[in-house]
Amino acid sequence: MQEATPETPADRLTAIRTRMGAAAKLARRSAEDIHLIAVSKTRSVEDIAPIILAGQRLFGENRVQEAASKWPALKERHPGVELHLIGQLQSNKAEEAVALFDVIHSVDRLSLVTALGKAMQRLGRAVPCFIQVNIGAEAQKGGCSFMELPDLLKAAQDAGIPVAGLMCIPPADVEAAPFFALLAELSARHNLAQLSMGMSDDFETAIMLGATYIRVGTALFSERPSMI
Ligand SMILES: *Cc1c(COP(=O)(O)O)cnc(C)c1O
Repeated sequence: MQEATPETPADRLTAIRTRMGAAAKLARRSAEDIHLIAVSKTRSVEDIAPIILAGQRLFGENRVQEAASKWPALKERHPGVELHLIGQLQSNKAEEAVALFDVIHSVDRLSLVTALGKAMQRLGRAVPCFIQVNIGAEAQKGGCSFMELPDLLKAAQDAGIPVAGLMCIPPADVEAAPFFALLAELSARHNLAQLSMGMSDDFETAIMLGATYIRVGTALFSERPSMI
């Protein structure tokens, strides 16, 4: 039976944290090792503020421009908020991204590694990064191929970029578990600590398979406003 969507942002946050805790327990993992990123893309400052007041501290945005218009003011009012970039990044926006974001989840090519390394040096700011892997080998998706991953990891390390771990967005409308398991396997092979995987529809599965950062939008903010 489908449960009713909890009414308030604070209720929805509590519901997600409860589900995270249950999944962690089933997987015999410590809940403290699993971090919730509230994906606030397309949401207004008015939508975001109640989630911060309810105690949420990690937020994810997929566009530099949109984040730059919303977050400097929010961050000033709410110290301790951590901003994660989860969308594709153009090399010419690397410096703006390094200045604004606390973690970048979408590093997927050499030119971007080079741009980020330079930006971090220029700004004197080391921003932890995830290498995004195109885990379903989909033509239209961001992320590096399996073949490119070792070189990209080495280039990031050589550029002085702190590499936190791997990130993926599995193909839509198919079971995500095999893709999460594959990312976890790649992560273990390269001795990386963090795994950014799992969204509203599959975060419990991701937690079972080792996710340390889950990225949840719709389940927290309710339905995204439709385009029509
Ligand atoms: C939008 C988005 C999410 C959140 O998706 P929901 O299904 O709304 O939870 C997670 N990760 C990335 C990269 C996204 O763009």
